[in-house]
Amino acid sequence: MNAKRFLLDRPVQYLKGVGPRRAEQLDRLGIRSARDLLLHVPRRYEDASTVTAIATLKVGMDATVIGEVVSKGVLPTRKGLRIFQAVIRDASGLIECSWPGQPFLDRTIQKGDRLLVAGPVRFFHGRQIQPREYVVLDRDDGADGGKVLPIYPSTEGLSQKLLRQIIEENLDPMLSVAREEEPFTAEHLKRIGIPPLGEALTVLHRPDTIAAAEQGRRRLAYGELFFLQLLHARARLEHARQRPGIPFRRTNALLRPFHEALPFTLTEAQTRAVREIFEDMAAPRRMNRLLQGDVGSGKTVVALLAMLLAAESGFQSALMAPTELLAEQHYRTLRDLLAGVDLEIALMLGRQGRRERETARGAAAGGAARVVVGTHALIQEGVEFARLGLAIIDEQHRFGVRQRMVLAERGEAPDVLVMSATPIPRSLALTLYGDLDVSVLDERPPGRKPIRTGLRPESARGKVWDFVREQVAAGRQAYVVYPLIEESEKVDLKSATAEHELLSSQVFPDLRVGLVHGQMAAEEKDAVMRGFVAGEIQVLVSTTVIEVGIDVPNATVMVIEHAERFGLSQLHQLRGRIGRGAEQSWCVLIATGGPDSMERLRILAETDDGFEIAAADLRLRGMGDLFGAKQHGLPDFRFFDHEKDEELLITARREAQAVVESDPELRRPEHAAYRRELETRYGERARMHEVG
Ligand code: ADP
Ligand code: MG
Repeated sequence: MNAKRFLLDRPVQYLKGVGPRRAEQLDRLGIRSARDLLLHVPRRYEDASTVTAIATLKVGMDATVIGEVVSKGVLPTRKGLRIFQAVIRDASGLIECSWPGQPFLDRTIQKGDRLLVAGPVRFFHGRQIQPREYVVLDRDDGADGGKVLPIYPSTEGLSQKLLRQIIEENLDPMLSVAREEEPFTAEHLKRIGIPPLGEALTVLHRPDTIAAAEQGRRRLAYGELFFLQLLHARARLEHARQRPGIPFRRTNALLRPFHEALPFTLTEAQTRAVREIFEDMAAPRRMNRLLQGDVGSGKTVVALLAMLLAAESGFQSALMAPTELLAEQHYRTLRDLLAGVDLEIALMLGRQGRRERETARGAAAGGAARVVVGTHALIQEGVEFARLGLAIIDEQHRFGVRQRMVLAERGEAPDVLVMSATPIPRSLALTLYGDLDVSVLDERPPGRKPIRTGLRPESARGKVWDFVREQVAAGRQAYVVYPLIEESEKVDLKSATAEHELLSSQVFPDLRVGLVHGQMAAEEKDAVMRGFVAGEIQVLVSTTVIEVGIDVPNATVMVIEHAERFGLSQLHQLRGRIGRGAEQSWCVLIATGGPDSMERLRILAETDDGFEIAAADLRLRGMGDLFGAKQHGLPDFRFFDHEKDEELLITARREAQAVVESDPELRRPEHAAYRRELETRYGERARMHEVG
């Protein structure tokens, strides 16, 4: 068994048909061991149902065709662009394929090659395909007569043919080891409705039908999900067991006067979230909950209610924000909202003078301050709390998991509430934050005017500035956002610094224009932001540093330059800075780029539902890119498809939870394989959560 397992850990170089040179090429695909090779499965499959006969191609279709190259060459155009063109033929007819700007393909693609090309069909002196993707196939590779053609991710110098050959030659012995590594019992597999590992890998590499390959993918996706959920389930258990939590007791001594003085009624979503949080807090186990809500959904007041419950029970709360500006803003908001309530609040910031700091620290340590608001300063050496019962982290994606834990360690066993304005679909929330319970604010307070969002080409910039001037003349303020800080020669983007120069000296010489960006020192940055909050700055030029949390209701215009460079969710987050007051707000996206990027940006003009936007973003860009998923410790899922596998994810979570409930240490013989898998997949992290 050990010798056999060893086979999969063997460096790929020593496999049949590989050797040092090919090992190097395989390395570029991330393939280092035999196991990596076995898991290097096709990216897609083609068969008679996915490949179109050339004669039936119509302009406007997006199609995959297979044909033989009958002629080829490089065409210069008048603009100096060189185009590689090839004409391919199948049994039904001919079509021209055109690769603008890629003359070098003339060396890779030869007359007589069999090509698979996929892309849109256009009209240009006749029908033409502009391949998004092409693959040089083996002579007898087909996708007809019921045959399925697997397309592997490959790399320069390593053709499909070679890659397939290497895999085929080594597949059988690798599969026989994989069969023995099956961690799930036959009964478990049957319950989920997925094939065993060996079979899954077989159909992924040698599918009889595309549907069979899809079943194989589901099996591997289930493995990814189940073991991550197992890790999460153990973390949850550990969190709950470590120390008992505080059973907070509601007396209404503070909550009632607060409710009576509150100038608005809570939304249904807020009421639901408060109920969930209060139930957690009343229970004797520690709360570990995520409050997720789109920008402007009103998370602060929910947090405040939780803090009041803690205070009523005789405990302190700490609220940690990622920037000084935001911490100060929270401090002010809380003070205003708590005007009629007898409750001392302290503010702790890094830049405070010695006296101020001593006072704040004293109030926290002595217990006089029942709410302490601050930045990272809250988790500095020397900060102590008399009786910390609740730790709240705002905009949690700006903090690491460690900082979250450090704040929670400041008390005996405080309940923990983290808040995030990054709306993500439920399936992804369960994956990213599987160790947390989740409350969602999926509704905005009533009465806000929706932001109007428009898309403008560069040529309309003059008019956009006129509009900004009009709004400023009416007493409003504006943001102008740029994607980069310094002018880069390579990328032709306007930098915030250069534009600030231009805007303040030429476009708005008579207005007060400020600049803020990430490379500025924190104090300098805060000083500018304070100027904007106070209304001294009328037009604020900035990079994306403004995206987190700040609240300037008088700012009603946001112009975003090079909008095509931003992700949709990020644009939505930025846009959340306006539309906070009673006046109509406007977001103008100035963009260049092809129809694809315009199409993408149009989504923002059409909806302001952050969840919908995040879902679109995920569809377009994939998961890895989004929300710094890596930072959250989200593993590189290779098989999980967040759109297809939501059910599977929920099943995996349930199964994992049941396992941990019945056998927390995974000591039963039938769970030995789970331990092993956790170790292989998560190593160090898996051991961190060993319980007991
Ligand atoms: P976010 O979820 O983005 O942190 P905030 O907590 O800053 O949102 O709330 C945004 C604004 O909405 C604040 O000015 C807040 O006072 C207001 N607000 C919150 N809840 C309600 C409500 N139920 N009705 C009306 N206004 C509300
Ligand atoms: Mg907030």
